[in-house]
Amino acid sequence: MSKKYVYLFSEGDATMKNLLGGKGANLAEMTNIGIPIPMGFTVTTEACNKYYDDEKVITPEIIEEIHATMNKLEEVTGKSFGGTVNPLLVSVRSGARASMPGMMDTILNLGLNDETVEVVAKETGNERFAYDSYRRFIMMFADVVMDVDKKDFEEILHEMKEEKGVELDTELSAEDLKELVVKFKNYYKERKGEDFPQDPKAQLIESITAVFRSWDNPRANVYRRMNDIPSSWGTAVNVQEMVFGNKGETSGSGVAFSRNPATGERKIFAEYLMNAQGEDVVAGIRTPQPIEELEKQMPETYNQFVEIVNKLENHYHDMQDMEFTIEEGKLFFLQTRNGKRTAQAALKIAVDMVEEGLVTKEQAILMMDPKQLDTLLHPAFDTEEMKKHEIIATGLPASPGAATGKIAFSALEAKERHEAGEKVILVRQETSPEDIEGMIAAEGILTVRGGMTSHAAVVARGMGACCVAGAGAIKVDEKNKTMTVNGKVYSSEDYISLDGSTGDVYEGNIATVEPEISGHFGTFMSWADEIRSLKVRTNADTPHDAAQAIKFGAEGIGLTRTEHMFFAEDRIFIMRQMIVARTEEARRAALEKLLPMQKGDFKGLYKAMEGHPVTVRFLDPPLHEFLPTKEKEIADLAAELKLSVADLNGIISDLHEFNPMMGHRGCRLSISYPEIAEMQTRAVIEAAIEVNEEMGWNTVPEIMIPLVGEVNELKYVKNIVKKTADAIIAEKGVELKYLVGTMIEIPRACVTADEIAKEADFFSFGTNDLTQMSFGFSRDDAGTFLKHYYDKKIYDFDPFAKLDQTGVGQFVKIAVEKGRGVKENLKLGVCGEHGGDPSSVHFFHENGLDYVSCSPFRVPVARLAAAQAQVKNPRK
Ligand code: PEP
Ligand code: MG
Repeated sequence: MSKKYVYLFSEGDATMKNLLGGKGANLAEMTNIGIPIPMGFTVTTEACNKYYDDEKVITPEIIEEIHATMNKLEEVTGKSFGGTVNPLLVSVRSGARASMPGMMDTILNLGLNDETVEVVAKETGNERFAYDSYRRFIMMFADVVMDVDKKDFEEILHEMKEEKGVELDTELSAEDLKELVVKFKNYYKERKGEDFPQDPKAQLIESITAVFRSWDNPRANVYRRMNDIPSSWGTAVNVQEMVFGNKGETSGSGVAFSRNPATGERKIFAEYLMNAQGEDVVAGIRTPQPIEELEKQMPETYNQFVEIVNKLENHYHDMQDMEFTIEEGKLFFLQTRNGKRTAQAALKIAVDMVEEGLVTKEQAILMMDPKQLDTLLHPAFDTEEMKKHEIIATGLPASPGAATGKIAFSALEAKERHEAGEKVILVRQETSPEDIEGMIAAEGILTVRGGMTSHAAVVARGMGACCVAGAGAIKVDEKNKTMTVNGKVYSSEDYISLDGSTGDVYEGNIATVEPEISGHFGTFMSWADEIRSLKVRTNADTPHDAAQAIKFGAEGIGLTRTEHMFFAEDRIFIMRQMIVARTEEARRAALEKLLPMQKGDFKGLYKAMEGHPVTVRFLDPPLHEFLPTKEKEIADLAAELKLSVADLNGIISDLHEFNPMMGHRGCRLSISYPEIAEMQTRAVIEAAIEVNEEMGWNTVPEIMIPLVGEVNELKYVKNIVKKTADAIIAEKGVELKYLVGTMIEIPRACVTADEIAKEADFFSFGTNDLTQMSFGFSRDDAGTFLKHYYDKKIYDFDPFAKLDQTGVGQFVKIAVEKGRGVKENLKLGVCGEHGGDPSSVHFFHENGLDYVSCSPFRVPVARLAAAQAQVKNPRK
């Protein structure tokens, strides 16, 4: 039998997410468990992928299958698609495996044409409704499928309202809307040079094609990259019988969450609008009513609603986000999915659900997106500072956090000013999916219109950005770039501050305070720690960062970049003296000055880490980062070294390297100048002896040699380290355990890891360099051309942010196998940026690493990712 590309909802279930998309699989599941939903069918993600494989056409076989399934849907509903009796109208919506709110296109009321609209008018006895639906369909179809901007239609609608002297769409009569439909169709013809399509079958295929096409639109691509969704997943398309919330005063549409998505409170949180279609609620054009009102208006429907919401939450064991429509008193659910929620809400829900016995700790751990923790780790407003500032408006607390910045009035402006280094708050009437890049760039988002379920609120919560929505007291003039509140005018030069947890908008720039892991957050993280087997260390170069990391649960330092300790102005000067020294004597003189600084730094780090292991990496400075470039710097350095500027310039130009990243750095420095390794060993060992004595601890310093590609390099440097360290220990007459290991960050090191392991106490994968050297492109330069790779779908993601498991990951695997083949218990870690990336953490877990090391703010993210890896793929 040939492959099946179209499934009725009654043919699927929740396990078929990859094929039917999240929405399709859930609609199938809802059908199975008896939830009242409008019937329909799903065109699979495989059909979408095939569309792209076939040069963007849907093959005749699949078109045939779609029409055949439509015939079945006609049978099930007793309606006829395009028919003159009881016409079937459908919605066409995207539905990928992972939810991408508002990122792809939707078409409603499909099946209407000049004939069926008359039938609908007659059968419903509601001409106004029929023409209102038709004008909406023409606008959506033209916009989504035929690329005629919906704004043009809105303009025509606006003109008509002015002409008729009315303010609201709902005030237009049936006759007005009939006239509007004619105007819309004329405009369509003017723009497209052909009549608005009348054949529902053709409308359907065109619309499905448009949804497939929208999988590749720029905003979907940006969203996917941000959320690790590969383009190869494709989207499914759901075709579903329309039910109407705009049929009059006993009809309505709404959005519901089974618990509060902002706070996690265990109480249904829903909003609805009577006499409206779902798009009106989500778009935030009219501010919706809380669901409690429905209890007064339609108590029976309300009770049924509550029952279904609870049934869905219990069935999915997670907080649900649902859309519903009431059509002349009859309730339908249109979709359900696990709801997006703020990080605070996610923690509360996870902890509550364990306490309620609805999920296990392991299941609870899987309910939280590790990246979301990030929002809890960033500062909140200082309460004292907050009192000094005036609240100028209050909106809905749509997404928590604290944000301060100058006002930007468009997404583009927000993006550009952010790139120029400014902190901005994006202030909009309401946001739409086109604003995504501006929303990412902004510190926070403030909208005048819209509820808790508006686009701005949903997207901001998804990205963990602070958002206040529906602050109706504010007037925004986007054209003239002003915002007016209580008669006071603010411009793009003014600061405002948003509190996303209360909805308050303040004038001015408010200072913030550091976050803490306590309450639900603390409980949840303690479960993650109980479960995980991978340890989590931090990359820290200062006691401040190390102390921060300890607060966030780090179990040691996995990487101290010692060259970073010399970026400060007074220190870089001495570092430069060392680099440009032409004799051993001059170099030793500079190193002599560096020693006490370095030793002091190490003592600070050991103390901050409270006895946990500290890995110190020896100098690895790509020279271009350190050499002086400004005239004054060169003159000062020349004076200090008693050289002429010309002579110093000569030395600097001798040191010039064409590829500094592949130049005189890493262990190569200690091989050329062993005195560098001697100084650093002395600093590490003396600091450890002194701190252990002072504090009564047993800190075990771990010395790490960078950029080793050949065992003899490690042997040579290790020899210097051992000689120096053992002499100091003997001289002080103390006991001190220390380790000497190496970074594995050159492909050659991976394939000769069995040799290298014989000389190493540990390996730490430097996946930044390993990525750079495996791909053969520079980590500093790749950004400029990788964007073309994303656009052309050559890569889906940045391999410097997320480990390339198929390529670079194989080098890691080889090194693990070869290393452990020689030393069964060889300690293995990773300290490249990937150590804090959740999907990479899974890979390291699966390949038997002992720890990952990442920047302090990513420590909790890595702890949770490690726990999730253990739940999904348990190891001893
Ligand atoms: C690495 O290469 O992955 C690493 C951690 O070292 P650096 O980024 O300092 O080169
Ligand atoms: Mg490196």
